[in-house]
Amino acid sequence: MDLHFSDATPTTEERDAVDALLGLPSSGWDGGVRDPVRDTHTARGGHEARAMRHLLLPALHAAQSRVGWLSEGALNYVCKRLSVPPADAWGVATFYALFSTTPRPKRVLHVCDDIACKCAGADTLIADLERAVGPAYHAPKGDHVEVAEFTWMRSPCLGLCDQAPAALLQEAGPQPAERMVGSATLDTLGPLLRSGTPADAVSPPFRGGAPPAPGERRLLTRRVGEVDPTSLDAYRKSGGYDALKEAIEVGAERVIAEVTASKLLGRGGAAFPTGRKWDAVARQPAQPHYLVCNADESEPGTFKDRVLMEEDPFALVESMTIAGFATGCELGYLYVRGEYPLANERVRDAIAQARESGLLGDNVLGKGVKFDIEIRRGAGAYICGEETALFNSIEGMRGEPRNKPPFPVQAGLFGKPTVVNNVETLMNVPHILMMGGAEYAKIGTEQSTGTRLFCVSGSVRKPGLYEAAFGITAKQLLEMAGGVTKGRKVQTVLLGGAAGVFIRPDELDMVLTFEGTRAAKATLGSGVFMVVDSQTELKPLLLRIAAFFRDESCGQCVPCRVGTVRQEESLHRIATGKARGGMKGEVALLDDVGMAMKDASICGLGQTAYSAVESAIHRLRIYQ
Ligand code: SF4
Repeated sequence: MDLHFSDATPTTEERDAVDALLGLPSSGWDGGVRDPVRDTHTARGGHEARAMRHLLLPALHAAQSRVGWLSEGALNYVCKRLSVPPADAWGVATFYALFSTTPRPKRVLHVCDDIACKCAGADTLIADLERAVGPAYHAPKGDHVEVAEFTWMRSPCLGLCDQAPAALLQEAGPQPAERMVGSATLDTLGPLLRSGTPADAVSPPFRGGAPPAPGERRLLTRRVGEVDPTSLDAYRKSGGYDALKEAIEVGAERVIAEVTASKLLGRGGAAFPTGRKWDAVARQPAQPHYLVCNADESEPGTFKDRVLMEEDPFALVESMTIAGFATGCELGYLYVRGEYPLANERVRDAIAQARESGLLGDNVLGKGVKFDIEIRRGAGAYICGEETALFNSIEGMRGEPRNKPPFPVQAGLFGKPTVVNNVETLMNVPHILMMGGAEYAKIGTEQSTGTRLFCVSGSVRKPGLYEAAFGITAKQLLEMAGGVTKGRKVQTVLLGGAAGVFIRPDELDMVLTFEGTRAAKATLGSGVFMVVDSQTELKPLLLRIAAFFRDESCGQCVPCRVGTVRQEESLHRIATGKARGGMKGEVALLDDVGMAMKDASICGLGQTAYSAVESAIHRLRIYQ
């Protein structure tokens, strides 16, 4: 593509798609800089120009979902409509993996080749696809290219690890359709590729419909598989919105006091006290305040927030409303992973129903409380799970992390005080309010209160999402999931995802609390519990993890940008028997690179990029 695309014209389809998103009559734009979305919504604060720019990601999604890729004409049209410089828009469009700036068929199958799916035979599936369908998508060369009817491509983790191997089919058009496919085989994927996905297709059901396993304690998952996730009435009959009523009745300060008393720690990995964060934002004099719900879970092996959004979306809407009320936010952004079509649909529908019923808007529950939610759909960038990268993404920039300080509580989204919590953290809040913070704090352990969601995948008999009070051991969790796959033995368990650590079978007595894993030099991370059996080759998994970090590094700082490349190169040399300076020399190099990444990277991605590899080397002694 030529970067000077200011003369390129969009097709009617592309223009209509962008116009529809912006809420203008088709082709009704006169070239001005009016922000039609702002005109029809309540004020959001922030600088006017930024308020235009924040529509960039949705506009790119709209154009691509109509024709399958982002042409020069489409990009140019978006730039003009939003007053975004073309070079900036190009930088954003090429940052996200789900966008294509080269011609691509309307029907694209993304096939996961990440660690959980590898353990479940993704490599064989991909080899089958190559044989039956042809090679994976490659950008065509030349100006006037014909594209095929469909294509397929490899993908990092799609968040369907409980049903590995997984795939995601996206079909562009006037009514774009998407579908996640679990337990994928050539037999299921072949017909989908050829004939497309029905518009009403949904993801495979979640294990949570099954009765709780011994030891499970369901708080956040209590409605999963039990209550119709599309019905506000059903949600209210099951106790929904009692907590919001309680919150408004007792007042914002008391809500924060209860959350503080509950000792709820953030479930996103950093384990920051939620009450302290809320209090800090509530006290900020600068206005407006923003709430951001981070639903961009992209850590390989993680799928808990997807299940919560798909199966209990109203609970997330209610939780966000309580958080907004408590911290003085009138607008919340829900940033949902781009690879989660059903979750996107369910939360969008729940927000619309809540708005219609006076549960969002200018007068929530008729009590004069103002709060509304906007959804932002991610576009395939792991780094956007980092809170400041996520702000940049919402603001229409490349998802690159910012230096801290200032911290989000002081200057976050649009430079304003911002509360950021992930889905799991927020969804604890209604329970805290209904049972009282002190009572909630009795669940779990002294330092890790409440329940934890574990994403169990890999070689277990019943993979899925499990919720248990903090305090269970790794062994008990494994038993909850039915134990290791028949005829197999545990080789290792990956705790916390690609940024986590591998533990040995003799460490399964480890207590899965924040303090227990910290003491054992491990991490709970995003709740990943991936069992690797003794028949699975670990070294290819390490290579996949290294490739993942190299690919997902935003490239902004040297230790991570270069370190992730050097790490992958070193592992490749080892894998091909070309270790420099022998295994000892290569391991020493990996340690040095790992230390540099950990100590000098700006954000958590670089700081943890060596974590899993390091644990495999020094904990499992894989190269001895
Ligand atoms: Fe970007 Fe990596 Fe630096 Fe984070 S550590 S800012 S991902 S280059």
